[in-house]
Amino acid sequence: MKTTTVTPDLTQLTRLRFVNAYLVREDDGFTLVDSTLGGAAEDLIAVARAAGGEIRRIVLTHGHGDHAGSVDGLRAKLGASVEVFLGEADARILAGEQVTQGKPPGTWPKMLTVPDVRLAGGEQIGHLEAIPTPGHTPGHFSFLDTRDRTAIVGDTYTSLGRLEVSSHFYWRFPLAQMATWDRPLDVASALRLLELDPSRLVVGHGPATPMPSHAMREAIDRAGGAPQAPEAAGPGLAGEAGD
Ligand SMILES: [Zn+2]
Repeated sequence: MKTTTVTPDLTQLTRLRFVNAYLVREDDGFTLVDSTLGGAAEDLIAVARAAGGEIRRIVLTHGHGDHAGSVDGLRAKLGASVEVFLGEADARILAGEQVTQGKPPGTWPKMLTVPDVRLAGGEQIGHLEAIPTPGHTPGHFSFLDTRDRTAIVGDTYTSLGRLEVSSHFYWRFPLAQMATWDRPLDVASALRLLELDPSRLVVGHGPATPMPSHAMREAIDRAGGAPQAPEAAGPGLAGEAGD
């Protein structure tokens, strides 16, 4: 597992060159944001200890297998006191409930761990603020570090090659678009993140982007821009993303 120090409070962990998780430093140890694919639990724990702390809680941007894959392994090793946070809709999908018309695309793992907290938006988890960014998945969340306005945005954006909204097809990482549930909603969430004026963007796939506003704006434009009316991003579009 490759580790990259992004800021004194944030370490990027990378497996297979393109799958990221993050350690966010808090007073009691670390918040782990995402867990990569299955089989990484021991490595993630070891990397946290080498960085000087324990993983105290696990926050997931969404329920896809390359983000939630090692949660069961981590809970088996760290115990149930390590709370797991996941967006309401994605938690319901992982629990086997039908949340949308048709199954949302992407890989949904068999996760035995029941998230302790189903995020609705606005929660404060240590220094991270939970921001609903639905679109890539129905219950996708991003997290803003209120200390320095670093935004951890999961798969709302990717940065392999260049910054793109995940709903926009880009040859360097076509999987992102194929796994995106509601493309107009994804673009609306990308715009919401731009409006937060983050100091830095870190993503599920690709390197960190400092001072990202200009690149975010260009990526949103390439993705077709934000919907004109809020109705355009309604749940009625859910069925269109099933291909
Ligand atoms: Zn994903």
